[in-house]
Amino acid sequence: MNEFNNLIHGEWVAGTGYSPNVNPSDLSDVIGRYTQGDAAQVDAAVAAATAAFPAWSTGGVQARSEALEKIGNEILARKEELGTLLAREEGKTKAEGIGEAARAGQIFKFFAGECLRLAGEAIPSVRPGIGIEITREPVGVVGLITPWNFPIAIPAWKIAPALAFGNCVVLKPADLVPGSAWALAEIIHRSGIPAGVFNLVMGRGSVIGDALVNHAGIHAISFTGSVGVGGRIAVACAETHKKVQLEMGGKNPQVVLDDADLAQAVELCVQSAFYSTGQRCTASSRLIVTEGIYPKFIEAMKARMAKLKVGDALAQGTDIGPVSSQSQIEQDLSYVEIGRSEGATLAVGGERLKRDTEGYYMAPALFSESAPGMRINREEIFGPVASVIRVKDYDEALAVANDTPFGLSAGIATTSLKYATHFKRHAQAGMVMVNLPTAGVDYHVPFGGRKGSSYGPREQGRYAQEFFTTVKTAYTNA
Ligand code: NAP
Repeated sequence: MNEFNNLIHGEWVAGTGYSPNVNPSDLSDVIGRYTQGDAAQVDAAVAAATAAFPAWSTGGVQARSEALEKIGNEILARKEELGTLLAREEGKTKAEGIGEAARAGQIFKFFAGECLRLAGEAIPSVRPGIGIEITREPVGVVGLITPWNFPIAIPAWKIAPALAFGNCVVLKPADLVPGSAWALAEIIHRSGIPAGVFNLVMGRGSVIGDALVNHAGIHAISFTGSVGVGGRIAVACAETHKKVQLEMGGKNPQVVLDDADLAQAVELCVQSAFYSTGQRCTASSRLIVTEGIYPKFIEAMKARMAKLKVGDALAQGTDIGPVSSQSQIEQDLSYVEIGRSEGATLAVGGERLKRDTEGYYMAPALFSESAPGMRINREEIFGPVASVIRVKDYDEALAVANDTPFGLSAGIATTSLKYATHFKRHAQAGMVMVNLPTAGVDYHVPFGGRKGSSYGPREQGRYAQEFFTTVKTAYTNA
């Protein structure tokens, strides 16, 4: 059995033991054994990053750009292999895995260019004879903590801007799916960047994540994960004076108006509610449908969902792979029971499925006749479970869409320019989609939300520099 170690100061080092990485499509398939680090390894990784920082942060943008370009090119050249590994360990389909791997490659290539474009300002002082320069400098040593649902894209969209802008990195990937992050670390290791600039410490969040968040040598934490963990990290970062960026959960609304193109609306609802097994922070879990189209919408959703093929993530023809883990499928199935007990109608799905191999298979579930106040409409389920809320008109749809503690992504299906325009302006979300699924975004523009979904500067695109740099104002009396 292959064993995979942590990367600290350019060396592969074993932690305190190994943990199996199990394929959720086939529980008898162990992908590899990944080491479990400890707080001492976090200390060593932070020390390595600290030592590497002076040279990396001042060594010039050409070397950084070349390294990022090389990493991006290798990921793209190996996207089939990396995407297959990703699908095998996380459970999204092979096509989705390859798409995610390709996205990771594109992100590195984007930031290869972006580090050459970091600009400052030169402006006159209010005092004659004095000049002012406003520049951006790297933050220092950054800790990156990532979730299991995008095991290569999320590490990529944090690592690439961190390195591009001259920071040194300690990455702690999700314990459930360390394989894709390890493969990415191995590519970064061979890219020619100096030892210590990038470090990987795998292990439990309560051990490695906690040690990073509380470490005096870490200057900033970029976290993606659940609201509960994110909130605790924000408090710890405030107490230890770290810059912090949190991307957290969602309960994203998808509005469907009477004037929508029904076939298009059904397709985008199925896509954003159930693809990637509904395990996307941007998934639509509340389908808010006006009463004129409601009966047709429910029937069309049922017909479309009957055609969805749930199966092994790597098998040809699979639309929906397994749920990622035992605890996640238990949570998903328990919410199906909660929805029933709250009085919503289970229109289709919601049961555990048997396949040729033992895995976490579940039939995507759709509730109809659900009410906005039900727990299934307020709490993030993070699985293939969506519910439909019937509303009178656009105004009620918008009010229901915004009635949530979250604010990541919001969508509307309509042929009306008036409603589309109003929704873009008034949806309380960081990302708004018109006649598109709430999930599925470009890699070169900002990503993030409002309210309980996000905290701190946006990720991705040129906005990423806000978090991964710090501003300096210099005065010169020439
Ligand atoms: P999670 O349980 O919060 O874990 C996220 C990361 O935090 C993991 O690496 C985890 O380590 C680590 N962690 C756990 N406890 C920690 C602690 N005490 N201190 C520091 N780090 C700790 O989230 P998840 O279940 O992996 O991911 C699902 C969540 O992520 C959902 O809520 C989803 O909406 C959200 N998400 C948000 C976005 C976005 O951009 N808004 C994108 C994707 C996912 P372990 O793996 O060892 O537990």
